[in-house]
Amino acid sequence: MLHGKTALVTGSTSGIGLGIAKALAARGANIVLNGFGDVEGARTQIEALGVPVLYHGADMSKPAEIEDMMRAAAARFGRVDILVNNAGIQHVAPIEEFPPERWDAILAINLSSAFHTIRLALPAMRAAGWGRIINVASVHGLVASVHKSAYVAAKHGLVGLTKVVALETATTGITCNAICPGWVLTPLVQKQVDAKAAALGISNEEATRLLLGEKEPSMRFTTPEELGELAVFFCSPAGDNVRGVSWNMDGGWAAQ
Ligand code: NAD
Repeated sequence: MLHGKTALVTGSTSGIGLGIAKALAARGANIVLNGFGDVEGARTQIEALGVPVLYHGADMSKPAEIEDMMRAAAARFGRVDILVNNAGIQHVAPIEEFPPERWDAILAINLSSAFHTIRLALPAMRAAGWGRIINVASVHGLVASVHKSAYVAAKHGLVGLTKVVALETATTGITCNAICPGWVLTPLVQKQVDAKAAALGISNEEATRLLLGEKEPSMRFTTPEELGELAVFFCSPAGDNVRGVSWNMDGGWAAQ
């Protein structure tokens, strides 16, 4: 379905980004991989699906590095057809204790990076008459939780940006939508489980049950594989007129 198309997924060396990259690669898309950590592990998993992979280590908090990544993607594959803005970080603290530098980093990585990739990817998508922009927001783009001021602000911002881009491309073959996951057991959430277990002096299993019980009525994590299939739907012909939605996959979290 996606043979000949190129997907750039930011933060795709781990978790949700890797799950989405693998789902798009399984449909034949070339992949531009980005992020830190186990780059070779991620590359091997995607190459096993039989598609070419370009890795670029741009730091999503640095606009000049984002520009270099977009140039490198175009140089290798011609253009980016599918842009998945996924890179993100978290910091949990009451607002009076929230370190200003963490606020700045979260806003830069979770929100401003998407502004930069989108503005740089759009001209070639417009010229081609087709494109898909998928912003990995969060259920925290729709509702708030305590102690997550920067994350909730950035994700609400990303949902707003999604709507603007959807409107600005509404008469074209380019769509822009957001995905809003609830809890997904990735390193980002494992840290929150570990912190809860340590703070309350309980086991990881109990901390996991508490975490899910607070928010996610299904009492189970959403998986990167499920989110990958949602991204595939947005890229399919059935998604041609799905524009500006924020699609939660959250076990009922936002329905409460
Ligand atoms: P993760 O920690 O497993 O992966 C984050 C990815 O982003 C990694 O590849 C990491 O290397 C990359 N990254 C981090 N900082 C970067 C930077 N400065 N430049 C480039 N890459 C960077 O986390 P995840 O849970 O898979 O999160 C992915 C996205 O999904 C994030 O935007 C997160 O907010 C969102 N999300 C996660 C959950 C969840 O429960 N895990 C829920 C809702 C939304």
